[in-house]
Formats: sequence, structure tokens, C-alpha cells
Amino acid sequence: MTLQNPPTQILIAEDDPISRSLLELYLDQEGYSYVSATNGQEALDLYNAGQFSIVITDWLMPEMDGTTLCRAIRSQTRDYYTFLILLTAQNSPKALVEGLEAGADDYIVKPINRAELRVRLKGCRRILDLEHSLKQSLAEIRELSIHDPLTGAFNRGYLDQQLEHEIQRAYRYRHPLSLVLCDLDHFKLVNDTYGHQVGDTVLQRCVHSITQSIRHQIDWVARYGGEEFVIALPETDTAGCSVVAERMRERIAFSPDDGKNSPLKISASFGTVTLVPDAQTLRTSAADLIQRADICLYRAKLSGRNRVVAETSAEG
Ligand code: GH3
Ligand code: MG
Ligand code: MG
Ligand code: MG
Repeated sequence: MTLQNPPTQILIAEDDPISRSLLELYLDQEGYSYVSATNGQEALDLYNAGQFSIVITDWLMPEMDGTTLCRAIRSQTRDYYTFLILLTAQNSPKALVEGLEAGADDYIVKPINRAELRVRLKGCRRILDLEHSLKQSLAEIRELSIHDPLTGAFNRGYLDQQLEHEIQRAYRYRHPLSLVLCDLDHFKLVNDTYGHQVGDTVLQRCVHSITQSIRHQIDWVARYGGEEFVIALPETDTAGCSVVAERMRERIAFSPDDGKNSPLKISASFGTVTLVPDAQTLRTSAADLIQRADICLYRAKLSGRNRVVAETSAEG
């Protein structure tokens, strides 16, 4: 996954027209794009409505001063970091400490010097770039930590955590939650006949078929074991679950070589269970739901494979 780059536009807050024009001129010369405000409140309104990762603000301004603006910006959370540069006429240590404590990252003493502005902005970009690449790496690590590398399905760790969340949500909102356990049929034979690599491709194709059969970003599929998958269908009742499971079964079933060289067919068996929370039902655990789906899956295997067996309401 690739994170969006942080915005490049600079927000200026400066009430003095001469200082502001000079800053704008220098930013033009350095090739930066910017939007200007004449006081802190106006700058905050622009910040709230727009996308800025650099704010250069004067200290003393009418309506809202620079340190108040810094605090207001710092109190917000955004997907990207906002680098705050405070313009100050006074470079006494006391004033600088106060400015930096308000949340400013850096300061420039007025009158602004173009060369100094250039290097301060360079430093600022370095920090923003570092922050962005750190966030990008963290997002990538998170993706890797919850996915199965072979099939791209979620992994067992994600399943254990997320299924408990789904169950909690089902009870909280009194919505049904369906669970499908899928196991490829005679998969050992697929490996033995075509080799492990083909077996791997079949697993990938199987997850693709499942993904194609479920709702994007609502339902999800996790690899439970070698050739076993758990599919969670939030807000889906028994009838809806049967339709989805049947669709998955149809999509997965195919003959690798049209039965010419071998009669071997790829198929999968399914066990499904639906949690329908009401005031009377005792709280179910993820392990219990999976176990109930597994009992149905076992029946599907026993009764000939390549089929869906749903838990009947009397069993639930
Ligand atoms: P059944 O219809 O009863 O489920 O029979 P089966 O052969 O599918 O079941 P069994 O549990 O005997 O075999 C599962 C096979 O799945 C054995 C194992 O080598 C294979 N398998 C597990 N993980 C992978 C994998 O990552 N890649 C490949 N190619 N095969 C795998
Ligand atoms: Mg001022
Ligand atoms: Mg199995
Ligand atoms: Mg199997």
C-alpha cells in the first residue's frame, strides 16, 4: 500500500503587509506555493478547510496570535504532520521557549532573510519526508503482519482478533453475523498429482474466487490453516450466508485440465453458521463459532464434498 504524499502548500499567517509581501516574494523565488492569511483566526479557518503540512506564522497578530494558532493546530490530528514555523521579532530565550512550547517546530527571527528561510524550509522538508517514509514503513509492516503472504488473505492472528470484534459488534447492534468455513477437497491429491507449486496457485485462485464472491471492505477472508479458510459475513443472516457460500462454491469448482489427462477436479466444501444475537442468547466466542462451522464442514465432507452445509437453527 502507498500512502498519499503530504500536501506541499504552505499556509502563511502574517498581519503586517510588508512582512507578508516579502515572505510571499521569497517563497515565490524558492518555488513554493502558498496561501496567505492576515491573522491567526483566518489562518486557522484556512487550515481547517484545507491541506497544509507547513505553516509559517507571525507571533503578534490581531484576533488570534501565533502561539494560540500553534496550540490550535497541535490539538488536531491529521494523517500527516504539520510543521510549524514561528516568525518572531524577539529572539530572547524566554520568548523562544514559549513559542516552542506552544508547539512550534522552528522559528525565524524577523526581518526574514531569504537564505535563512531557504535552509529552514529545507530542514522542514527533511523532517516531513522522514515522517512520511516512517508512516509508509509502518503501514507496510502492518499490512505484512496481518496477511498471509501466499494468498493475500488475512492471517490467523488477524482472524483471532477480528472475529472477536465482529462478535462484539453483532451483540452490540443485534445484527446477525455469519461465518463460513471452507476446506478444499482432496487437496493432498491436487499436490500429489500436479505438484506443490500448482497447489499453491490453486490456493491463490481459491482466495480470488472467495474475494470475488463477498462484499468489499465489509466481509473478509482469512487463511485458517493450510487449505482452510474462514470467511466472515457481518450483518448477514442464514439465507444471505447460504447464497454467498453457494456462490463461492460455484466459483471455486473447476477442472484444471478439462478432465482430459486426469479426472481430478478442484472443489471445496463449506460449513456455515449464523449468530443471531438477541437478549436471551448467551455470548458466543470466536472459537465456538468456528467449531460449530467445522461440524457442518465435516458433514459436507461426509455427504460427498463440493457442497455447503448450514447449521440448522435447532443446533444454534
Ligand atoms: P479433504 O477433502 O478431506 O479435505 O482432503 P484433503 O486432501 O484436502 O485434506 P488433508 O488435510 O489430508 O490435506 C491437506 C493438504 O493441504 C495437505 C497439505 O500438503 C496441503 N497444503 C497445506 N498448505 C499448503 C500450501 O501452502 N501449499 C500447498 N501446495 N499445499 C498445502
Ligand atoms: Mg504581527
Ligand atoms: Mg483441511
Ligand atoms: Mg481439504
